[in-house]
Amino acid sequence: ELDSPRVHTLRTVPDAVTLREIAEDARSAVVLGAGFIGVETAEVLAHRAITTTLVEYGPQVLPPLDSEHAWLVSGELRRLGVDVRTDTAALRVLAGEGSDTVELSDGSSLDADLIVLATGVRPDTGVFEAAGVACERGAIVTDEHGRTSLPQVWAVGDATISTDPVTGARRPVALAGPANRAGRQVADDIMRPGTARALPSPAGTAIVRVGALTAAMTGANRRALIDAGIDARTLHLHPNQHAGYFPGAEQVHLSLHIDPADGRIFGAQAVGADGVDKRIDVLATAIRAGLHVDDLIDLDLAYAPPYGQAKDPVNLAGMLGANVLDGTVTLWYADDLVDPDEVRQSSLVLDVRTADEIATGMVPGALHIPHTELRGRLDEVRDETAGRPVRVMCASGVRSALAHRILAQAGFDSATLSGGMLTLRATLGDKAGELLQAPADPTPRNRYTAPSRQDEHHDDH
Ligand SMILES: Cc1cc2nc3c(=O)[nH]c(=O)nc-3n(C[C@H](O)[C@H](O)[C@H](O)COP(=O)(O)OP(=O)(O)OC[C@H]3O[C@@H](n4cnc5c(N)ncnc54)[C@H](O)[C@@H]3O)c2cc1C
Repeated sequence: ELDSPRVHTLRTVPDAVTLREIAEDARSAVVLGAGFIGVETAEVLAHRAITTTLVEYGPQVLPPLDSEHAWLVSGELRRLGVDVRTDTAALRVLAGEGSDTVELSDGSSLDADLIVLATGVRPDTGVFEAAGVACERGAIVTDEHGRTSLPQVWAVGDATISTDPVTGARRPVALAGPANRAGRQVADDIMRPGTARALPSPAGTAIVRVGALTAAMTGANRRALIDAGIDARTLHLHPNQHAGYFPGAEQVHLSLHIDPADGRIFGAQAVGADGVDKRIDVLATAIRAGLHVDDLIDLDLAYAPPYGQAKDPVNLAGMLGANVLDGTVTLWYADDLVDPDEVRQSSLVLDVRTADEIATGMVPGALHIPHTELRGRLDEVRDETAGRPVRVMCASGVRSALAHRILAQAGFDSATLSGGMLTLRATLGDKAGELLQAPADPTPRNRYTAPSRQDEHHDDH
């Protein structure tokens, strides 16, 4: 039951103007749906000091983002003052005198002067289907030139269906870029039949600002790959967007899904305060051009300290990807820690951060040896492994990759945690707090070792 006059949708510019007027007097708002529009709306309302609750039926905000990135976005929304309620459905809206009440599936209810419904879009194609235009689950079917099943009728945009270039899934892509570009190509087909370029399969490249963060993605996400049964390996990196010694350096939390067999890039996502748009656009171009992950090493990207790194984050993703493809680097994933007991029994977790870093929390039972001391302390590792493989971890994945190589050269079966503690915390979310512990009894070997410039440089990539 959603027909209160306080329930609004946001589709057109006049809708936005109306909402802005209502927001002048509103004190509390509920936004239903945490997709792009819901998140952007909640951000703006919170910015106006309106008590804002964002309600999402699914387990995370921004469903197209992989969960480790979505975790960063919900953290930013909370920092902005938005009350984020995931895994929660709105059951009904009860219209009241001064305000409405939104009843939620968790048994709570919220008073709201303003309710924004942003639960998604569906093609409004009944009239066309009735006229004989072939549709699939409500979306118009076209050929590669936008021609529908009826002669002299073309269709582009949100209401049409397209095929995902990675997974083969057929779905509408409700984004302005593909719609606008397709408009020109369909006009070509109408005016100059036989000469028009074919419409591409949109990669779903998208970007959104949330407070101080930007989140962006291109290509297939983890869920789409799993649903399609595609075997993928994920690379996580946290390089700075520009040289670490230049003011304003910020980490880009970057991930790529690749084909472990040949390095084809299935998709990429990034979250960060700066430089996210550039990396995702470069990666969208790489995917479109059919580049494989190791080709990213060779991209000659613009560099001066305020803009990038001599090894740009995209180049670094290529280097890590090449190492994974040729077996130089073996990755393990924070997801494995969903069953921490199994991880502890089947392997030795080796944390190679400094002592003051592990004081902020470590995986219980992990052996701590800073990576700079590892070569001299391999016997300790040998004693503790009891034949088990070693799972190495550090803050971002750089030092643990070095340690992993030292161990591999010494004959250990080992792997490095993809994205390190940063990705672990983002992957486990609230559960990270339950799992991670301060080291119980710092032994002499765990005493603080000052990070060398070399360490800092490594984590800086
Ligand atoms: C609030 C909001 C923010 C967005 N932000 C972004 C963004 O940042 N980036 C991005 O890529 N995309 C964004 N989008 C999505 C983007 O607006 C759409 O993907 C894009 O407009 C699709 O273009 P279209 O021509 O297919 O549909 P529309 O732009 O919706 O145009 C369809 C038009 O057809 C009209 N129409 C419908 N039925 C009929 C009929 N039977 N007869 C005649 N006319 C009809 C409609 O009234 C409408 O004017 C946003 C959407 C919204 C609502």
